[in-house]
Amino acid sequence: MKAYRASLLYFAANSAQAVFEEDGLLVVGPNAEGRQVVQAIGSYQSLSKDWPSLAVEHLPGRIIAPGFVDMHIHYPQLDVIGSPAEGLLPWLENYTFPHESRFSDAGYGAESATFFIDELLRNGVTTALAFATSHPASVDALLGEAQKRSLRMIAGKVLQDQNSPDGVRDLTEQSLVDTETLINKWHGVDRLGYAITPRFVPSCSEAQLRGAGELAGRYADVWVQSHVAENLDEVAWVKQLYPNARSYLDVYGQFGLLRPRAVYAHCIHIDDEDRALMHDTGTAAAVSPTSNLFLGSGFFDYVAAERTGFLYGLASDVGGGTSFSPFSTMLAAYYVGREGQTKPGVSLKPAQLWWQHTAGAARALGLEGLVGNLLPGCEADFVVLNPKATPLLARKTTQSASLDELLFALIVLGDDRLIEKTVISDA
Ligand SMILES: [Zn+2]
Repeated sequence: MKAYRASLLYFAANSAQAVFEEDGLLVVGPNAEGRQVVQAIGSYQSLSKDWPSLAVEHLPGRIIAPGFVDMHIHYPQLDVIGSPAEGLLPWLENYTFPHESRFSDAGYGAESATFFIDELLRNGVTTALAFATSHPASVDALLGEAQKRSLRMIAGKVLQDQNSPDGVRDLTEQSLVDTETLINKWHGVDRLGYAITPRFVPSCSEAQLRGAGELAGRYADVWVQSHVAENLDEVAWVKQLYPNARSYLDVYGQFGLLRPRAVYAHCIHIDDEDRALMHDTGTAAAVSPTSNLFLGSGFFDYVAAERTGFLYGLASDVGGGTSFSPFSTMLAAYYVGREGQTKPGVSLKPAQLWWQHTAGAARALGLEGLVGNLLPGCEADFVVLNPKATPLLARKTTQSASLDELLFALIVLGDDRLIEKTVISDA
């Protein structure tokens, strides 16, 4: 058992309501399976009496908060981040595919996986749903490294048997065999999960999408991850490929790829019928605001998402996204929310933004009560924030008169310097 005394930020059960304990105590200890989980959380004054003989690490002036959850990120695109391109499709062709082709080499994958996980942790991200590449070895590299570090990490081999260049294109039947082999090898091992990963509709043949959907039906607790309706050229391309489908999203539905634990990045150019379909099937959106602003793809409609009530949370989408930092992503989500020319503009509350990248993202992934929060029973993945990490942060946060003001200052001014330490449950 171990306890930490600091300010605490977490979320009330089943809500986006932030709780802030100025002088708090977080007690961590093993659960029945021996995994380190939160045993108690609350004010230092009330809780310290219940745990009199416990060793307490005192962190004055620091805030302990849940580790961030990134709902959509491409680990092989470390070196693609910040590449100039004329929108999504040229960006894929000129940068993404050539870089991803290097991951046929297991050594290259291992080096990238180590760097990638270091970078996640430096930025306070403790769980991610990640694309690997089409090479099975790229999944082994990432999940092998995540296992060494005791991380809760989900990843999958990309499926792309058409409209893809040599070096990343896979073979229909073999790709499905490889996927099932990787599910059996990794899913549910330690804290790891597997995601069936069709890249997007244009890159997958009908047979590959059908096979992916069959696997998604057979392995119900395995995740599904893909992209939908990011960009108008892409939407038009899918319309050409499937002229009879009601919408782009509907194509995934036809193949059995909409269900709980299915996560689609972007969901920008969709309508209310699509939103209802997401709601009714339990499908989640990974909102990727830095990527959408960088590639000029469009703006996620928060008002429509709330109105129709489907699951969503935040994601970096590195390398289309421009930063690993959850603070950059939350700030970009605020910009996207504010945009009011193409859809209704709204000012997202700072606690709401934070929730979307922690407990809300965990809920959208089907991991509610396990990660993304610090309620009793949650796995003890957390960050220690120093709100005085930079001169401007120190000046600004000292003047915060409310929790909203404090959180918004951290979101707007924060970066990796704010993350003093990232603590992983079992590490
Ligand atoms: Zn993506």
